[in-house]
Amino acid sequence: MDGKMKVGDLVQVANNCTQPGDQWHPMGAKCACFFCAGNSNRIGVVIGPAPKNSWAVMFDCGEAIVDDFEEARGEVKVISKSRRDDNV
Ligand SMILES: [Zn+2]
Repeated sequence: MDGKMKVGDLVQVANNCTQPGDQWHPMGAKCACFFCAGNSNRIGVVIGPAPKNSWAVMFDCGEAIVDDFEEARGEVKVISKSRRDDNV
């Protein structure tokens, strides 16, 4: 697998948020998760390793921790590999 995150990679978090109007979000209520609350485009840059197979990622709305399992499940995908690894 070459999908593993590395420092410098550009990653995008899938939008799995439930839509306004469903049972968890009564009419008009907005999702209050980190990304929705921050009105984020969900694209961030991996800035460094974090404990437990996780990575610190800087998004437009701030820093968040993403782990390799989320990447494996497709909830986070690498959209641009760091140039450091281009010739691996
Ligand atoms: Zn949300």
